[in-house]
Amino acid sequence: MPTRIKTFPCGHKGRGQYCHRCQQEQQQQQEQQQQQESERATQRAWAASFAGRQRNLKDRHGLRAGHPPLNHSDDSFP
Ligand SMILES: [Zn+2]
Repeated sequence: MPTRIKTFPCGHKGRGQYCHRCQQEQQQQQEQQQQQESERATQRAWAASFAGRQRNLKDRHGLRAGHPPLNHSDDSFP
């Protein structure tokens, strides 16, 4: 008895009720998407922490050293 190989709508050939190749691809895509989302979440968290750190640095710097006179050249001497 020959194995029944049918052609799926996607063009792949195989046995079974659905295309296992496409299922695998879908699974891989889902995994990739999940990975991307987790990476994005990590990036967001990192960016947030980085921004917070920068703000902290700036605040600390401003508190400690103060700002240098930026508009010195604009000062009109009477
Ligand atoms: Zn397929």
